[in-house]
Amino acid sequence: MAKIDPADEAQLFATIDRWVAREVAPRVKEFDHADKWPAEIVEQMKELGLFGATVSPEYGGLGLPATTYAQIVMKISSVWMAITGIFNSHLMLALAVEKFGTEPQKRHWLPKFASGEVRGGLALTEPNAGTDLQAIRMTARRDKGDYVINGTKTWISNGIEGSCFALLVKTNPEASPRYSGMSLFIAPKGPGFTVGRKLEKLGYHSIDSGELVFQDYRIPADHLIGEAEGRGFTQVAGGLELGRINVAARGVGIAEGALRLATDYAQIRQTFGKPIIEHQAIATKIGEMATRARAARLLTLDAAQAFDRGDRCDMQAGMAKYFASEAALENSTESMRIHGAYGYSKEYDIERLYRDAPLTCIGEGTNEMQKLIIARQWARQSGSV
Ligand SMILES: Cc1cc2nc3c(=O)[nH]c(=O)nc-3n(C[C@H](O)[C@H](O)[C@H](O)COP(=O)(O)OP(=O)(O)OC[C@H]3O[C@@H](n4cnc5c(N)ncnc54)[C@H](O)[C@@H]3O)c2cc1C
Repeated sequence: MAKIDPADEAQLFATIDRWVAREVAPRVKEFDHADKWPAEIVEQMKELGLFGATVSPEYGGLGLPATTYAQIVMKISSVWMAITGIFNSHLMLALAVEKFGTEPQKRHWLPKFASGEVRGGLALTEPNAGTDLQAIRMTARRDKGDYVINGTKTWISNGIEGSCFALLVKTNPEASPRYSGMSLFIAPKGPGFTVGRKLEKLGYHSIDSGELVFQDYRIPADHLIGEAEGRGFTQVAGGLELGRINVAARGVGIAEGALRLATDYAQIRQTFGKPIIEHQAIATKIGEMATRARAARLLTLDAAQAFDRGDRCDMQAGMAKYFASEAALENSTESMRIHGAYGYSKEYDIERLYRDAPLTCIGEGTNEMQKLIIARQWARQSGSV
């Protein structure tokens, strides 16, 4: 299991704090409002090693434990959640290769992913299939030493700026059960693989969400992760625990950021001769927000610690993801209300957190699905199933 010396961890956190304060915070409005790709910030993320944060050192990464990684995501997300998606989704691609790839696949791809030289993400969702992933229609047909892929993916983070994706397809569309006909490929951009369009969004700006179109896209058979057909769905599921801890950490960041903005504002803004934090109606909101943010943080660290111990943690990760994302939504809404009219202004930061928060309830499995997963696992552990 990945470990880090506490002194090294403290130094890493200090570096991230400095970077966020000096480089990210002053520029976030400019990028977010223009929905502009933050090229300079991405270069700095490369230097910080974020594209290899959870990749093992033997393949050029930092090999961080999930607990350390989650706290980095929280720190960045408390100021600008969207940019964590640029390396979070990319690390899901790297995880699939490291966990399920062959040794030659790991040696070839992981150092490039870890350095950020090749960046990308996870391409699962299709226009007709998100939650019900087994309903995807994209096919890969074997043709001698290659596979020929046809279909469309949508909502793919880093889809435009990224150059390589873990691509979920059906190698046997007739298979029963459906998941047994699914396979996962390492798919670099090339002939037959084009970007359909950039999707416009409520929030989560500056990170590109794209529709990806595959028309007779041909890749060598050695791009099949693990070089065995029929394992794609299980391989994707194998990354979900860390993926959900990622999203939970983003939710914690937003919940804490919204709380900080509300607390600062409530101490400055005066009505009826005193700061609004001295009115009980506002103080109780701050009390609730602080409790939600703390509970979200503890649930997320609990899941990350279980992950680092190598324990099965789908229930803990689901609880953390569900609770932290709802905390992000509630805290950003409450913080906006505390800001009064200024909360509705684009000059203040809270409007961005308010627009970014809902995504955490959708990504890596909607919260509706998280509750079903939690209930199933809870019942199993309680011995009722
Ligand atoms: C900004 C953004 C970035 C994204 N990035 C990526 C990415 O990088 N890669 C990728 O592959 N995908 C990505 N997605 C897609 C995302 O994973 C899906 O949107 C998500 O899985 C939900 O799928 P859907 O939108 O098709 O909703 P649907 O599956 O159509 O669900 C619609 C509603 O029905 C509910 N529902 C569905 N089935 C059930 C059920 N059995 N029981 C109860 N409720 C149910 C859902 O919870 C939801 O409320 C992204 C989405 C967004 C918005």
